[in-house]
Amino acid sequence: MAITCDVIVVGAGNAALCAALSAREGGASVLVLEKAPEYFRGGNTYFTGGAIRCAYNGLDDIKALIPDLSAEEEASIEVGSYTQAQYYDDLMRVTEGMSDPELAQALVSRSHPTLRWLRSLGLRFVLLYGRQSFKVGDKHHFWGGLAVEAVGGGKGLSDQLFDVAQSKGVTIRYESKGIKLLVDRQGKTSGVTMQSPQGLEDISSHAVVLACGGFEANAEMRARYLGPGWELAKVRGVPYNTGDGLRMALEAGAQSHGHWSGCHAVAWDLNAPPTGDRNITDLYQKHSYPFGIIVNIDGRRFVDEGADLRNYTYAKYGREILYQPQRTAFQIFDDKVKHLLRDEYRIPQCTMVGADTIEELAEGLDIDRDSLVETVRRFNGAVQQGEFNPTILDGKKTVGIDPPKSNWALPIDTPPYLGYAVTCGITFTFGGLRINQRAQVLNTEGATIPGLYAAGELVGGLFYHNYPGGAGLMAGSVFGRIAGDSAAKDTRGRG
Ligand SMILES: Cc1cc2nc3c(=O)[nH]c(=O)nc-3n(C[C@H](O)[C@H](O)[C@H](O)COP(=O)(O)OP(=O)(O)OC[C@H]3O[C@@H](n4cnc5c(N)ncnc54)[C@H](O)[C@@H]3O)c2cc1C
Repeated sequence: MAITCDVIVVGAGNAALCAALSAREGGASVLVLEKAPEYFRGGNTYFTGGAIRCAYNGLDDIKALIPDLSAEEEASIEVGSYTQAQYYDDLMRVTEGMSDPELAQALVSRSHPTLRWLRSLGLRFVLLYGRQSFKVGDKHHFWGGLAVEAVGGGKGLSDQLFDVAQSKGVTIRYESKGIKLLVDRQGKTSGVTMQSPQGLEDISSHAVVLACGGFEANAEMRARYLGPGWELAKVRGVPYNTGDGLRMALEAGAQSHGHWSGCHAVAWDLNAPPTGDRNITDLYQKHSYPFGIIVNIDGRRFVDEGADLRNYTYAKYGREILYQPQRTAFQIFDDKVKHLLRDEYRIPQCTMVGADTIEELAEGLDIDRDSLVETVRRFNGAVQQGEFNPTILDGKKTVGIDPPKSNWALPIDTPPYLGYAVTCGITFTFGGLRINQRAQVLNTEGATIPGLYAAGELVGGLFYHNYPGGAGLMAGSVFGRIAGDSAAKDTRGRG
């Protein structure tokens, strides 16, 4: 069969388009196959806030990504620094020390250079004011190692990547689903069988980069790998990430790696649709719980809302909500903290109730009334003195209740009270393929599968149990860039 292109990239999200751009830069001809129709392009990347976690050593590193920062803006911000060592430690801490050290080191050390590369291609970034900064004194303090987002959020990131990819001569075919890897008699990946409305077609290439997401949108796989009940979770992003790339690679002898029963899942509006809405994108999420309490329909708390900065707990609390009666929970705030609630609490699509008393709030939300009143009474009585500061772990905690609240504990005593009903929304799955430092996929014996590379959600081994916010896009960009570069180099090496 005649070779159609040097590199086929399966998927057209952030990881895939970074791979495509990098392969083009390496001189390869690139064909991107995307399962979605063009009007639904962008994958989960489109649904993100566009927040990207990169290591930086101070303002100069931020200015390398955002050169148009004005002097006035510079004087009004405090970005601090987020060193590679801090990034690595955070990754290891939240993954219970299980993140693959080689992958983790590559992610951390290549994070800033990769964003600089994207910037050099024309992508634009801004500071993440809305969600990752609080005004302390006269300055905006950025916290939690997350200071940068793509212009236009996830939609902007996706649109910018498509624009650059097209301008660089990457060919994209929509409604073109990769269904099988072609393997030649030498065991080398030699293309993809794809399915489009016209039928099946074999497309040959020197290399294939799989970057077509995890299995979060596949109810059967969720129940199989994540466990009972997960088939009932809402999907935050596209309906297309159904584990196809994982299945294709495993069938071709790839080695599985990472936390196959783990995933990223968050508090998501109770009445959100079963899969993501392209207009609302990530605004069904409800991430300001550190400033209130979370209860179930029995009126009982079940997590430490202030265990850590939001970035380090939100991705594992969706799971806790899934395990509550009717997969439902309620975030409760009082008027004192209303101004701290993120933008997603102000959309008309919120399932929320406001009330002047806790009793009314319970009735409005169908929570066990007496139990909620008692929970709030005990919680308020357990709050200790201290200075409240949302930008740090302020140590303002409760004593004598279980679970405790370890930071930002303020009594819930100032009406009107606000209650938001949430369920579990799955973001992406952690289990994936084993790759090496060149993003080559390894087989079950640990050898590389010639011609096969992977990037993005379907790479295993980086995230276990939990995840530091903003690392998903960064990992996709870092390993996408590496995968495209390796694929182009290996193609050239072939002559
Ligand atoms: C609501 C939401 C908010 C998020 N916010 C953030 C954030 O702010 N920061 C952050 O770092 N991460 C965030 N994430 C996580 C982030 O989306 C992922 O880490 C990242 O976008 C994954 O990129 P990817 O390229 O691997 O997958 P995707 O962007 O999902 O791309 C995969 C693509 O593959 C396509 N595809 C699937 N199967 C096939 C097939 N068989 N053939 C061809 N194509 C196929 C899909 O249609 C899709 O376009 C968020 C996720 C969601 C859902």
